[in-house]
Amino acid sequence: MIDLVYKCKLCGTCCHEVPGDYVKRIPIYPDEADKMIDIAKERGVNFKIIEDLVFPDINNENILVLTYRIRLDNETQGCPFYAKSKGCTIHDMKPLACQAYPLALKRQDAFNFAISIDPLCNFVVENYDNLETADMEKLRTIFKEEYPKAEKFYRKNKKLMFKIRKLEVTNQIKIPHEISIEEFNNYLKQWSRKEITVK
Ligand code: SF4
Ligand code: SF4
Repeated sequence: MIDLVYKCKLCGTCCHEVPGDYVKRIPIYPDEADKMIDIAKERGVNFKIIEDLVFPDINNENILVLTYRIRLDNETQGCPFYAKSKGCTIHDMKPLACQAYPLALKRQDAFNFAISIDPLCNFVVENYDNLETADMEKLRTIFKEEYPKAEKFYRKNKKLMFKIRKLEVTNQIKIPHEISIEEFNNYLKQWSRKEITVK
């Protein structure tokens, strides 16, 4: 256990849909999305994004967009930047979620997240018994390169949530705490988008 060190198996599972009910979600921030769209344009890659973490702002009738997610290719069911021969083709520019993987952020409630391990990674599957009992300090040792990225990811998410809170308490926005699915779907259809970004 003490000697366990993460080594990616280069299987590509994390860049593809997984069979079953689970829906693959690779979250990206608006600034990362812009960068990836530019790279895709330059390379002629068919790259599309879908809104992911959003809040309705009933003061201004806006949908606040905090993150997007990568739309997987219909044919390969994988990220359009994945190549079978070499894996991630934007390795040096990949989004924080991919840099931190197999560490991920797990949503605890509407505004809080925690660092966790994605059980779908094949390294995690192979070492599940050891990882299951590992505390944060051990995870820091096992995922030496990924842990600081996960912390960066966590800090950025926290800043975003604080920004939303600040906008709320200063009455610049109002997020309803109870909302029906019908209402939410109507807002999604009718309202403009406003990206919320932090550095
Ligand atoms: S950006 Fe790279 S690492 Fe991230 S999902 Fe796409 S191919 Fe995989
Ligand atoms: S699923 Fe895990 S082991 Fe496989 S490529 Fe992704 S990070 Fe590496």
